Amino acid sequence: MGKKIKSGFIVAIDGPAGAGKSTVSRLLALELNGRLLDTGAMYRSVAYFAVKENVSTAKGFSKIARQLNFDYDSKNQSILVNGQEMGNRLRTQQVSALASKVSAFKGVRQTLTLCQRKLGKTWAKTAPVVVEGRDIGTVVFPRVDYKFFVTADPKVRAERRYQQLKKQGTKGVSLQAILRSNMERDKQDSSRKHAPLKCAEDAIVVDTSKMSINQVVQFMSEHIRGRMSLVGD
Ligand code: C5P
Repeated sequence: MGKKIKSGFIVAIDGPAGAGKSTVSRLLALELNGRLLDTGAMYRSVAYFAVKENVSTAKGFSKIARQLNFDYDSKNQSILVNGQEMGNRLRTQQVSALASKVSAFKGVRQTLTLCQRKLGKTWAKTAPVVVEGRDIGTVVFPRVDYKFFVTADPKVRAERRYQQLKKQGTKGVSLQAILRSNMERDKQDSSRKHAPLKCAEDAIVVDTSKMSINQVVQFMSEHIRGRMSLVGD
């Protein structure tokens, strides 16, 4: 401890829905004293505005993506969309399901990929950036030094999400429904033509089925710190 990380760099974290990526990425960004780029929130934002504006065509989705402006809210470690904190509005089942659909369109992906590269590179000039998504290590930042693919058994993933929703007081969601919806999203994300969900060849696979969140974060942080030149102490 007491050792400082020398300079800004990018950590790519990919994986399927509900594997614990978001929590792990958030904590890792804190641990590294860096920023978190939640690219899923960007696809969810396109879906959110598509629902709000009753848009359902590929052209319409791409137009929404081009009109969105993203910024960082360091207090909440989240993305501001057109200056607004989106909070739980991006987390509904409707937005989750549509996000997976809009993310299959080339126009949407091209716009958001460029945006993610720009944000990631700019932020990484001054601090570590943890970029979380489905295609970060394969498409958005294929040349970064730190890549992780976070996964877990589908049943474990569904159970975790179920417990999370129960804790939040969400009513009327069944474990089976979550399992089905996760499987559907995974299938859509893995089989799409443009930037499908897949593990980069040089990524470290972390199966979190039997690991606690803290163990995962510690493993990643030790790996990063172990590989880079450190200053201090
Ligand atoms: O990670 P999260 O569940 O918030 O992502 C929502 C959806 O956005 C995913 O199901 C996936 O379809 C899409 N996505 C993507 N590429 C990314 C991040 C998310 O296609 N880099």
